[in-house]
Amino acid sequence: MSLFQNTLKQIWKAAQLMKLNKDVEEVLSHPQREISVAFPVRMDDGCLKIFKGFRIQHNDSRGPYKGGIRFHQDVDKEEVQALATWMTLKCAVVNIPLGGGKGGVIVNPKELSEGELERLSRSYFRAIAPVIGPDIDVPAPDVNTNPKIMGWFADEYAKWAGKDVRGIVTGKAIDDGGSKGRGSATAQGGVYILQEMAKRNNWNPAETKVVIQGFGNAGGTAAKLLAADGYELVGISDSQGGIVCNHGIDPAGLMQCKVEKKTVKNCGVHVSELHGVEGSSCKMVENEELLLEECDILVLAALENQITKENAHKIKAKVIIELANGPITPDADEILAERGIIVVPDILANAGGVTVSYFEMLQNADDEYWEEDDVNEKLHKIMIKALADVEGNAKKYDCTLREAAFVTAIERLKDKMHL
Ligand code: NAD
Repeated sequence: MSLFQNTLKQIWKAAQLMKLNKDVEEVLSHPQREISVAFPVRMDDGCLKIFKGFRIQHNDSRGPYKGGIRFHQDVDKEEVQALATWMTLKCAVVNIPLGGGKGGVIVNPKELSEGELERLSRSYFRAIAPVIGPDIDVPAPDVNTNPKIMGWFADEYAKWAGKDVRGIVTGKAIDDGGSKGRGSATAQGGVYILQEMAKRNNWNPAETKVVIQGFGNAGGTAAKLLAADGYELVGISDSQGGIVCNHGIDPAGLMQCKVEKKTVKNCGVHVSELHGVEGSSCKMVENEELLLEECDILVLAALENQITKENAHKIKAKVIIELANGPITPDADEILAERGIIVVPDILANAGGVTVSYFEMLQNADDEYWEEDDVNEKLHKIMIKALADVEGNAKKYDCTLREAAFVTAIERLKDKMHL
């Protein structure tokens, strides 16, 4: 089953629960516009290479299409369709006036030089420029894209449009018109939800073991924030593998080591030494093993389809937070629900990123910039309200948080679509 088919199944499930008008389900099951582009990039050795990419605009009934751009060798159209659809639903869950879109380029950016990466970024953006705009479709960072790449996008768009358009992308560097707090917003939003759940359920952070899959923007920041809250980080991984430590992991030390040694799995001994605790030890684990480690909370912050029907019955965590998009397949979702494992779904848990992107759009439009505390205060309010709305629907429909998040979003979309 493709990732987009997973998404359609999730929409269908919510539609059954809420007895949704078939027309609304049909519209939400089809992206409104899909663009495939092939564009040339001059490589360092002088040859010309053609790369392929997509921009999918799923639905704009609540506002301009909004969503990140992913650079990854496994990108395909169905993946981008799914990600664009989830963006529409995510913006509706947190009730911000934006629709859903997503972009992707089929490339392993780690194989490019800095110059090649810049030329590829600019060439892709020129290719999609005719269909984007600050009131039409506003891209942002996703896997393997970052504020520097957003800066190249904005600069290329300015050349194409013949004027500076700050609001053309979000997730920009602060000096380029970015919002304070955007870099940490995805993880911060998820952590606000976790804090609220911990408060209500009397979880003691010091006695709560956390495993994090993915050590990039979302996972790396979550590690830092959770450690600051006193949670015990017992396992972390990146694309090459992970480490598990019996005395917890200091995320700052691990990040420093990752920069030096390139991968998390090369940092085992180093991290043990950092703690200076006798008997402290770390072991390297494969990615699949990390997910099955003993822990209370599992944070998924890498890629999609990580928990499937093959491993769902072996997961030991009691709560899973989806900072990544689509990390659990629908089959696995059912197994986890039967086992009583709480899943905080992606369209709620990672909506902090797009929420602060929306704040960035507002700041760019007014040319007035907010302090990080103000950004976080507004983000906190939105995330807690979204959690309450979703939990309210979970109770009303006697369903999982994912189903309830879809119902919450679709109710809001349905109203706008009818208008
Ligand atoms: P990133 O590129 O900064 O980090 C991704 C991390 O995942 C890297 O550390 C990478 O090594 C690791 N990884 C890849 N495959 C892995 C595997 N099989 N096992 C373990 N680790 C693996 O990307 P990011 O921005 O942190 O995005 C991560 C996820 O969060 C994606 O699903 C993305 O769509 C989602 N997300 C990101 C944002 C955002 O603002 N950046 C917002 C919403 C959702």
